[in-house]
This record gives sequence, structure tokens and C-alpha cells, in this order.
Amino acid sequence: MNDCIFCQIVAGEAPASFVHRDELVSAFLDIRPVTPGHILVIPDEHVVHTHDLPEATGERLFAVARRLAQSLRRTDAVRADGVNLFVADGEAAGQEVFHAHLHVIPRYQGDGFVVDASAWRDTQPTREELDEVAGRIAQSSA
Ligand code: AMP
Ligand code: ZN
Repeated sequence: MNDCIFCQIVAGEAPASFVHRDELVSAFLDIRPVTPGHILVIPDEHVVHTHDLPEATGERLFAVARRLAQSLRRTDAVRADGVNLFVADGEAAGQEVFHAHLHVIPRYQGDGFVVDASAWRDTQPTREELDEVAGRIAQSSA
């Protein structure tokens, strides 16, 4: 048996509370939610990183996440005040389950979830430095 927990969920060999299924992706509730209604959208196919996905599956992942984000704001079940979309690609980024997934996290006023992005903010690069890095990234994605 495949020892990837998300592959097991897709195959019906492990339990999940699904909110969406189609021929490319599935979405279900996170068992350790950051906030009530926290959803994971995953490709049915096993890949480790979202950027390893075929284009069509990557597009579907985001399309379904967008639709579910809207549902989270509409449904009386949770009625979110806002939504965060989050991806951890790689261990250094905090990935714990190595089957690609997109978190859809409903947010509520005063929910206590803090996104601390202060890490490097004190050292502001010059425009020249930004342009140099931008050019190199653009070159390698061309
Ligand atoms: P990440 O750090 O982005 O890899 O997050 C993995 C997420 O998967 C965590 O939020 C876990 O709570 C969640 N998770 C792990 N196992 C399961 C499972 N069997 N069913 C639903 N969610 C899970
Ligand atoms: Zn898998």
C-alpha cells in the first residue's frame, strides 16, 4: 500500500471529510485546523511540489481553492470574514506532508492566527539590487 496519507485519502483507503472532488483534484477538511473550516486542496496525482504539477492540474487547484474561498465566506457553517491561501513547497517552507497541497484558511476577526512576515524587512534592498535579482529570476523562468 502507498504510504502517502493523501494518496490513501484519494484512493478511499483513509478517511476524509470531502468538500470537493473532480477528475483532477480533491478537497477536504484539515484534521488539525488552524481555524474552523480549514480546507486542503490536493491533486489526485502524487507530486511533491505544486510547481511539479501539469499545468491543467495546477490551474484546477487554484480554481477550486478560489471557489471554496468564496463558499467559506458565504456558508452559515463558518461564515469567514476573510481567507488566506497558503502553500508550503519544500521542508524549508514548512511542508510536512510531501504530497502537494494548497491550504484554504478561513479567517475571523480576532482569530489569533498571526502571519509574521517580519524576518528580513529591516534590510531594505536598493532598486539596483531588486532589479538584479528580478532579472535573474526572470531569466531562469523564461
Ligand atoms: P503542510 O505543513 O503544508 O505540509 O501541512 C500539512 C497539513 O496536512 C497539516 O495542516 C495537517 O494538519 C494536515 N493533515 C495531515 N494529515 C491529514 C489527514 N489525514 N487528513 C487531513 N489533514 C491532514
Ligand atoms: Zn501522495
